[in-house]
Amino acid sequence: MSKKLLLKDAHVEGIRYFDTYRKQGGYDGLEKALKMTSEEIVEEVKASGLRGRGGAGFPTGLKWSFLAKPEGVPRYLVVNADESEPGTFKDRYLMEFLPHILIEGMIISSFALGANTAYIYIRGEYSWIPDILEEAIEEARNNGFLGKNILGTGFDCEIYVQRGAGAYICGEETALLESLEGKRGNPRLKPPFPAVKGLWESPTVVNNVETIAAVVPIINIGAAEYAKIGVGKSTGTKLISACGNINKPGVYEIDMTITVEEFIYSDEYCGGIPNGKKLKACIPGGSSVPILPANLMLKTINGEPRLMNYESLADGGFATGTMMGSGGFEVLDEDQCIVEHTMTLARFYAHESCGQCTPCREGTPWMYKILKKINSGEGRMDDIDLLWDVQRKIEGNTICPLGDAAAWPVAAAIRHFRDEFEWHINNPELAQTQNYGLARY
Ligand code: NAD
Ligand code: SF4
Repeated sequence: MSKKLLLKDAHVEGIRYFDTYRKQGGYDGLEKALKMTSEEIVEEVKASGLRGRGGAGFPTGLKWSFLAKPEGVPRYLVVNADESEPGTFKDRYLMEFLPHILIEGMIISSFALGANTAYIYIRGEYSWIPDILEEAIEEARNNGFLGKNILGTGFDCEIYVQRGAGAYICGEETALLESLEGKRGNPRLKPPFPAVKGLWESPTVVNNVETIAAVVPIINIGAAEYAKIGVGKSTGTKLISACGNINKPGVYEIDMTITVEEFIYSDEYCGGIPNGKKLKACIPGGSSVPILPANLMLKTINGEPRLMNYESLADGGFATGTMMGSGGFEVLDEDQCIVEHTMTLARFYAHESCGQCTPCREGTPWMYKILKKINSGEGRMDDIDLLWDVQRKIEGNTICPLGDAAAWPVAAAIRHFRDEFEWHINNPELAQTQNYGLARY
């Protein structure tokens, strides 16, 4: 049984509300943190090994230590709750059922960073959640944990919730900052990183919801205890949103020592694949990370069991590995068609491209068109090479990671499932009427 830190009280009735959260030990971490110096908290977060839970896995304490501190300039904390990566819904769960752990984490983090104003930028489609967050903010304020002179320490902190308007690109941190400033959400060139020049040109830390919530248990149990959970550079626990062809879709908190096989088949997590179907492939970290076929998903190229953590999932590079990403874990059974699935993702990225850079603006709809052609049985063999070429020209040549995110799934699908592309081309009549996965019966 995995150790639970973030979801340990998720089953407690009324945990959404301040009184119940407080009875379960909520805000003890904040009381403890306010007796520490801000430097001590940053050191604690560094020592915990916590890595950003939004997808990139960047060390949180290191990011915090990059925060510029020019005299007389305000600093900001911005929580990225624009969770829009297909297959990713773990932050929604946290905000909906445990809003106070996020609010507590934000106050501790703001204190550590010397920020008096913090924002939660939440995706527009999560339309019912801002009210839950605002209620939690109000409760925290009414109980002296937010606002002016928190618990008599002289520290002031305000938290505001800002709704997005449904653009995936606003989850990219600099597009998010543009949007928060009231502008069109176009990504900025980095550097400068937000830690130096962020919101209204002020030093800003942008962190994911889960990352900031994880600061609470780190302070409560201490960095040393936190770092003992997990393995290597994958310390602490990770929330995984599991979906696709599994018996028990949902949000799970894992410690990062469990195997992929255990995660998919054990009753504690996904509970196996419905109707005894075989595993075909997984996309373990949200739609942007490479798809891996079952054999490579369950074992690394060296025959070691693949573990649910940053290092093990990436083992082998993109040739035979993938990425932890956001922890949006999608399972595909033997009936699924990889070409059709890849086409659906390509349509998504083409639709969500902001259009600033040519390779992404032109390349993402081009990939979608080629995939649609192949999927509908109208493709030619050289379309596969053309598709490969287009994705290669997008990767690494754009302002923000959306370009890479659009290219990687296409590259991985061709790399591992070329036979399915060829099947569509060699069997045009079948491809026009049937899904590849089912056509083999
Ligand atoms: P990134 O690797 O460019 O940056 C990671 C973080 O570290 C950023 O906050 C960046 O500002 C900071 N950073 C890096 N180098 C720095 C430096 N030298 N100084 C100061 N700060 C520095 O990645 P990213 O653009 O933040 O995120 C990309 C990831 O987002 C993808 O891997 C994808 O998995 C994920 N993603 C998640 C969702 C979701 O819904 N959760 C949606 C889309 C994409
Ligand atoms: Fe916009 Fe795509 Fe360029 Fe990102 S990569 S800035 S989404 S055009």
